[in-house]
Amino acid sequence: MQPDKSNNWTSLDAVREQSVSGDSTPHCVTPPNSHRNDDVSDKQFRTERPLILVTDDDPMIQLLSRNMLESMDFDVIQASDGNEALKIFDSQDLDLILCDVMMPEVDGFEFCEKIRMSPRGRHVPIVMLTGLNDTESIEKAFNLGATDFCVKPINWELLPYKLNYILRASATFSALKISEERYSLAAHGANDGLWDWDLKEQKIYFSPRWKEMLGFRDDEIGCDPNEWLSRIHADDKSRVLAELEAHSSGKTEHFESEYRVMNSDGRYLWMMCRSLAVTDDSGLAYRMTGSQTDITKRKEAEEKLLFDAMHDSLTKLPNRALFLDRLAHCIEINSRKPDFNFAVLFLDLNRFKLVNDSLGHVVGDKLLIEFSARISEVIRPGDTLARFGGDEFAILCEDIDDVSTVTKLAGRTQKQLSKPVCLDEQEVVIDCSMGITLSGSGYTCPDDMLRDADAAMYRAKAKGSSGYEIFDPSMHEQALNELQTESDLRLALEYKEFCIHYQPIVEIQNNKISGFEALLRWNHPQRGLLFPDDFIDVAISSKLIVPIGRWVLKEACNQLSVWKREIADAKNWEISINLSSIELSQPDLITAVSRTLCESALLPESLKLEITESSIIENNDHALKTMNSLNDLGVQLSIDDFGTGYSSFNYLHQFPFNSLKIDHTFIAEIHEKKDKNEIVKTIVALAHNLGMSVVAEGSESTEIFESLRNSRCEYAQGFGIAEPMPGVEVSKIFENNKLASS
Ligand code: C2E
Ligand code: CA
Ligand code: CA
Repeated sequence: MQPDKSNNWTSLDAVREQSVSGDSTPHCVTPPNSHRNDDVSDKQFRTERPLILVTDDDPMIQLLSRNMLESMDFDVIQASDGNEALKIFDSQDLDLILCDVMMPEVDGFEFCEKIRMSPRGRHVPIVMLTGLNDTESIEKAFNLGATDFCVKPINWELLPYKLNYILRASATFSALKISEERYSLAAHGANDGLWDWDLKEQKIYFSPRWKEMLGFRDDEIGCDPNEWLSRIHADDKSRVLAELEAHSSGKTEHFESEYRVMNSDGRYLWMMCRSLAVTDDSGLAYRMTGSQTDITKRKEAEEKLLFDAMHDSLTKLPNRALFLDRLAHCIEINSRKPDFNFAVLFLDLNRFKLVNDSLGHVVGDKLLIEFSARISEVIRPGDTLARFGGDEFAILCEDIDDVSTVTKLAGRTQKQLSKPVCLDEQEVVIDCSMGITLSGSGYTCPDDMLRDADAAMYRAKAKGSSGYEIFDPSMHEQALNELQTESDLRLALEYKEFCIHYQPIVEIQNNKISGFEALLRWNHPQRGLLFPDDFIDVAISSKLIVPIGRWVLKEACNQLSVWKREIADAKNWEISINLSSIELSQPDLITAVSRTLCESALLPESLKLEITESSIIENNDHALKTMNSLNDLGVQLSIDDFGTGYSSFNYLHQFPFNSLKIDHTFIAEIHEKKDKNEIVKTIVALAHNLGMSVVAEGSESTEIFESLRNSRCEYAQGFGIAEPMPGVEVSKIFENNKLASS
């Protein structure tokens, strides 16, 4: 091929000369300066000089291209035919191939085809050099995968620009491909669905994964935004739309929303959607792109956690926290709408503990489940039944017309609960006590309302009735008094404000004193002499009864010891001391009793401890152990207030009682009512059968005393014989040899 001096080839001679003379500085063609200062983006792709393979059988082209390209920061490898070029391709990492079409053996077309067939060669830019300026060759070259072509004679000045441009385009293409692959990998790995919303056209692209997440095939969902929006749960839809609108109008920086969306089975799944809008120069969003993540499992776990936090695990009823929340809501409505009235019923099962202790916790649990179902049946829709733990329930009765709505509900509940329950083949009847508070009292705090309902419930319970009490403010006052009493009680021992009154117990057959019951009194600095009724419950609930009881034990034992030394008749006297359930459950009781006996030099049989039936029931097993130890010690045990509790002889015979005290309520009418008399006689007979002696409480008159004598009851105690009195008075009486009616 002869260079044409009229065109760019004119400079070829000079180049050739330079090359021959060994001068490597090209000066015939000045590489564009701009290329040297190539822009940064170009350098991003080119960390080193691009390696270019020039394949041409024309040595002139080879020489020229090497000189030109090397001077322009390209590295050049050359091949003179297709076969050689293929070998080079296999061993080198080429950035670009310049290739002549017309070559011996393997021509440019075949070479291009082979390169493109190899996996490494799919994206290497191939520029065909051809002298054939016919469209057919060009088309063929492109079809075989050529990137571009240059028609010979080559414009050497433009070629570097062209190659640089192709290299840059190729690098951009590779980077895009990598980024695309990375994104698709990430999207696939994250298991997320993707969408891309053209806001102008109102068309949306959903990725196959997006559709699959909802149980649809790719072809089952089109590109209408409603494919998505119409499937959103009605309760979430307006919120999601508002959030989308807020983001697309630029009010929020990004869109993130959690909502339910219906899948192909009609089931709602929880999805989290994140998106960003793309805005035009005027700030208007024209496109939104986002992802969809399935958060159903997390939501379900959260819902379960929330449910568990707000419900009782046994009955699945709302718990105290949820109840208080709903109550607070009612109070809030009431403050805006005063004619919205509501009520709280506080409910406590009676004798539930007995079931639990005697039949076991499993049966107790069954009973609670049964009762919650029963109460649920009688409350109105919209009312809330909650369990607060143990055997406490509460009902929130909303939007009531008047008090009768609530009292009727109380009545229905009572009736439902009083039906016998069959547990472990045993029929059990359990009732409840209820306290009611009404919104009319102007509560602002749910705790207060509950507290007052609780107080009213205690009032109902204290009355011994299985009915209900409606709270009145005096109950609150009472609660405050109790608090005051408790704080006063804490100081009473230290300030020596307690004293004991002794009430004689006489042997009916010979009218002789057999002993005394020690009864606690409190010389209150402001309130004067107080009887146990005024403070014993508070002492018990605050557990202050423990140190107080220890003081009584010591004081009374010392007193008896003194009497025994000073009074001739006192040799066989006993001292009876009351022991509450909490005192009975103290682990050091036995030690305390034996130490006191020792210190007061009393024989154990001079001490009689009075324990009520309910105390033993409250902690059955432990009580039995303690009582056996006391019995072993030689201390006497008496069952107190017999007849007021469960009065079960079956149960009592397990306990080592020496005597039984019949409650004064049975004794009061013994002389006028035949049935009472019969009851007392029966109790006496049964007690004797179990080897217990009997003491009658509340012998208020001579008539009663005479009736008792006929009932074979051994001992009596009561105002009719002698009222409780200070220890010194007892001593005085014996000095003067006088004792009331005995
Ligand atoms: P309790 O064990 O039933 O004691 C008998 C109560 O009946 C005493 O009331 C006594 O004064 C009263 N009483 C005596 N004779 C008659 C009578 O003829 N008719 C009537 N209606 N009542 C009579 P008190 O002293 O007010 O004690 C009340 C309760 O306080 C006692 O009932 C006992 O359960 C408890 N208590 C008293 N002192 C102590 C104590 O030191 N420790 C403990 N844990 N409880 C005590
Ligand atoms: Ca007693
Ligand atoms: Ca009693």
